[in-house]
Amino acid sequence: MKTCLVVDDSKVIRKVARHILETLNFTVSEAADGREALNHCMASPPDVVLLDWNMPVMNGMDFLRALRESALPGRPKVVFCTTENGMAHIRAAIEAGADEYVMKPFDRETLESKLQIVGLA
Ligand SMILES: [Mg+2]
Repeated sequence: MKTCLVVDDSKVIRKVARHILETLNFTVSEAADGREALNHCMASPPDVVLLDWNMPVMNGMDFLRALRESALPGRPKVVFCTTENGMAHIRAAIEAGADEYVMKPFDRETLESKLQIVGLA
């Protein structure tokens, strides 16, 4: 079974994402900010990280930079979630190491297609 770490400071969004991912046969774990997510990745790297952008403690961009600088073997794929559709914003995330992005709010079909793009659905 594939594993996905859902990183979002909103408990509601984590719950929605978990539900969708479980219907896509993922084993899901959750983190409420980038720091928690980084600790989780160091302890047990998931196949893919679904990453929120705006979070307290450590935001999505800082998480990506930290993940890139870490010596983690087999870096997880990262799909970042954004409410902003500016190309500059998306480009910055891709440059920081994200593999794909998904607009919030996302549905099952959209998320599945993004996971297929990164080779995981
Ligand atoms: Mg947020």
